[in-house]
Amino acid sequence: MFELLAKDGAARRGELTLPHGKVQTPVFQAVGTYGTVKAMTPRDLRDCGTQMLLGNTFHLMLRPGDKRIRDLGGLHKFMQWDGPILTDSGGFQVFSLGDLRKMTEHSVVFRSPVNGDKVELTPESSIQVQGNLGSDVVMVLDECTAHPATYEQANASMELSMRWAARCKTTFENTQAGSMNPGSKLFGIVQGGMFEDLRSESLQNLQQIEFDGYAIGGLSVGESKEDMIRVLNHITPEMPEHKPRYLMGVGTPEDLVRAVGRGVDMFDCVMPTRNGRNGYLFTSAGVVKIRNAQHRNADVALDENCNCYTCSHFSRAYLHHLDRCGEMLGAMLMTQHNLHYYHQLMAQLRASIETGTFRNLATSLQNQWNCDHELV
Ligand SMILES: [Zn+2]
Repeated sequence: MFELLAKDGAARRGELTLPHGKVQTPVFQAVGTYGTVKAMTPRDLRDCGTQMLLGNTFHLMLRPGDKRIRDLGGLHKFMQWDGPILTDSGGFQVFSLGDLRKMTEHSVVFRSPVNGDKVELTPESSIQVQGNLGSDVVMVLDECTAHPATYEQANASMELSMRWAARCKTTFENTQAGSMNPGSKLFGIVQGGMFEDLRSESLQNLQQIEFDGYAIGGLSVGESKEDMIRVLNHITPEMPEHKPRYLMGVGTPEDLVRAVGRGVDMFDCVMPTRNGRNGYLFTSAGVVKIRNAQHRNADVALDENCNCYTCSHFSRAYLHHLDRCGEMLGAMLMTQHNLHYYHQLMAQLRASIETGTFRNLATSLQNQWNCDHELV
């Protein structure tokens, strides 16, 4: 399922084989919350270099409903994306509901933000929902540990997540036996908050249950950059070499380079798409905020070193104008550029690992971006 093609220091170049195709890693997954990456057609996604999408279980199970999607032929057919899709477990969104949810050993119960209905999510139902969607990579249901958390809180939360991980594995195997979703993979999620020993214990627990890949959860939840780097430095060397490693919900271009350098293979984040819609654009010369008045008369490309559709055709002045008018095309063009930027960055990182020049590339990006924290 995962082939390690090259290594440069701790950085890894690999290939994931999934039911809907092969994925070159390190990879950035675009986030398709409601069965769509906002403002992007599947054709646009392919054109800007997207290999794999993330679908949000929580949103899709509430609307239009996972059984409806299954009966319509699965998420791939429904949204006309024929590449691999990873689905999250729904847990992260449920825990973000705060007081509107109730946790027990058995499940988490919440009120649907769509119609107020009471909904119960169990480790078993999360796996079944992801099976109904037809996911290529299924994630276990875990509790995203609150931040900040005491040692006792982080420990109790991690232990619950490990018990749930075992229940997810059992359900996944039974579901696969029914061949609802042949060839799909199941990933476990390392929790443990900011505590190194809990992170190690969580990983060991998951390895005993055995998963196809291992994710690092509970980062990018409001902790300092130093804490994120410390946890990554600790846990990545302990992760199994021949299984894919996925850092969930991260991050900025800097975070991606830093984590690739520590041996992470997969990422997802709403940053390029959400920021793109808001006129916050990543370019080779740093961040451009297209709303600023300085772009009103700028008859130049957004990024002269970018060959995306947006940069090949339109001026900063035009993007500024579209944004000012709240035009849909502005969101579309700016999202295309930001995703293209992220995918190009990952392609550069992959190439540098193949040629053994990762460190040189990271150092030059660090100077180019003027980073506060070292990338390598
Ligand atoms: Zn561009």
